[in-house]
Amino acid sequence: MKHVKNLIVGAGFSGATLANKIATELNEEVVIIDAKNHIGGNCYDYYDHNGICIHQYGTHIFHTNLKNVWDFVSQFTKWNPYMHAVKGLIDGQLVPIPFNLNSIHQVFPKSIADKLETKLIDTFGFNVKVPILKLRGTGDKDLEFLADYIYEKIFLHYTLKQWGMKPEDLDPAVTGRVPVYISRDDRYFQDKYQGIPLQGYTKVIEKMLNHPNIKVHLDTKFETIKNDITYDRLFYTGPIDEFFDYELGELPYRSLKFDFVEFDKPYFQSGACINYPNNYDFTRIGEYKYFLDDKSDKTVVSFEYPQSFKRWENERYYPIVKDENGELYAKYLEKAKALPNVYFLGRLGDYKYYDMDKAINRALELFETLKG
Ligand SMILES: Cc1cc2nc3c(=O)[nH]c(=O)nc-3n(C[C@H](O)[C@H](O)[C@H](O)COP(=O)(O)OP(=O)(O)OC[C@H]3O[C@@H](n4cnc5c(N)ncnc54)[C@H](O)[C@@H]3O)c2cc1C
Repeated sequence: MKHVKNLIVGAGFSGATLANKIATELNEEVVIIDAKNHIGGNCYDYYDHNGICIHQYGTHIFHTNLKNVWDFVSQFTKWNPYMHAVKGLIDGQLVPIPFNLNSIHQVFPKSIADKLETKLIDTFGFNVKVPILKLRGTGDKDLEFLADYIYEKIFLHYTLKQWGMKPEDLDPAVTGRVPVYISRDDRYFQDKYQGIPLQGYTKVIEKMLNHPNIKVHLDTKFETIKNDITYDRLFYTGPIDEFFDYELGELPYRSLKFDFVEFDKPYFQSGACINYPNNYDFTRIGEYKYFLDDKSDKTVVSFEYPQSFKRWENERYYPIVKDENGELYAKYLEKAKALPNVYFLGRLGDYKYYDMDKAINRALELFETLKG
């Protein structure tokens, strides 16, 4: 039976952040395992034969307002100061998403667009994001018309495709995430810090894990080693329900299928991400060379098809935010609390959608509690 001081399950950003902090600041041994044949978790990227950096699990853009997180990650990389902008195909035109004042002027005749702009600013102010459901409840017929238009053209069918259910059947936390932005700012994120690591995400995580105190074992599922290893502390960034062998039931997830296609031309579309709320079965097309301005005569895109998550068949991507799922997670958490020196974290351990910065911040906060 082997004994290790710190065992970390999962070499994504959550596990790698914790490994780095424990190794460097506590000067303790860390063994980090991952079931996959690569580090990086869902943020894994690699350079293909055309020299294009591909994000294997879909487009990832780093953005944060958390200076501590930005400073932490910046120890391991320089940044391409990329600002993400998304367009959606609406009535045959590519318009900025989230729907903003520029989108309004693009899809409506000038007289209507001017009127809507004035009413929006008078009602809500400038430079604010108004959730679509709130816009619907204003009682003003012009704003309700706008709300219905956005709901139908951008939100409803996209949500049906993305989640396989109607917006009202999802938690308001999800529906509220889709705003109308009363602004001329076409960027998708307004965070203070945004960018793409200059050598990609995998390199960042490789550098985090490059420490004499850290040993990485890939192709290693926790279940296959758990009876052969003991530990002072276990940090588990895998699915919490799987850890408990699904004894209370399975936490549902939404999954995705990516069809990667190489085209024999320099560019396929006008930006890194084009959404298709209404047409086709895919929700969006990502084109990877935009992120780091990779130079090639070829280009690679991914068509993104939402799917139900099925164990053994595909990957867990998004937790499905509904009361009953939250309640099931809470029951697992209760069981987890009874285990001494076992910590759950990460998007799968916490059953929570985390952007990268939030996953990293959660690991940094957990680390602070270990220092005592
Ligand atoms: C399609 C998509 C796009 C996204 N885009 C963005 C974006 O643009 N910007 C952003 O900030 N965030 C984005 N995210 C979120 C980002 O992917 C997460 O924040 C990040 O992956 C969280 O890292 P993690 O370490 O918690 O989880 P993961 O990256 O999932 O890592 C968990 C690791 O644990 C391993 N593991 C699980 N169970 C076991 C086991 N039993 N034994 C061994 N290993 C195990 C897994 O193989 C995996 O490698 C996106 C997410 C998705 C799904």
